Amino acid sequence: MTEDAVVSPFRPVRHEHDACIDDALDAADALCAKQGVRLTTLRRRVLELVWGSHGPMGAYDILDRLREERMRDEKKGAAPPTVYRALDFLLSNGLIHRIESLNAYVGCGAPSDGHAGQFLICGDCGSVGELDDPDITKMIASKAEAMGFAVTHQTIEATGLCPECARRGAKNEN
Ligand SMILES: [Zn+2]
Ligand SMILES: [Zn+2]
Ligand SMILES: [Zn+2]
Repeated sequence: MTEDAVVSPFRPVRHEHDACIDDALDAADALCAKQGVRLTTLRRRVLELVWGSHGPMGAYDILDRLREERMRDEKKGAAPPTVYRALDFLLSNGLIHRIESLNAYVGCGAPSDGHAGQFLICGDCGSVGELDDPDITKMIASKAEAMGFAVTHQTIEATGLCPECARRGAKNEN
């Protein structure tokens, strides 16, 4: 596997997360402009919420946050169907991915025309790393093909410990 297969690394220990969010929103603006689709205020806000951490975010968490905002500002809130539509938009434009095993969403570290990411999920802190390794995608497709199966969608999710949690675990054992 090559280094550049890493799309999203695990949550850095100490970092300026606002910069991650800004980068993600800038990348989304650029991608939507290129694809001629509109990143509305709500879609942008939902993307910002998904990017709230480097971990998976459930639809209900997003709804809760937007509901709180609606209580503060009538115009800004959003009803569930519009939030789900916004999530669908972000998914179909490759800006976020759905972690099937957790029924939650993560922001894509390198949004582009639909790639099949491979996800490494930390069972301790919930941090999610994303790989986009064409070798893995191709290998599964060719093994499936050998069985006469045509793959239309791949969901690769592995659970374990991120480097930080593994380090902490090792320290506690001593
Ligand atoms: Zn960050
Ligand atoms: Zn991705
Ligand atoms: Zn972890």
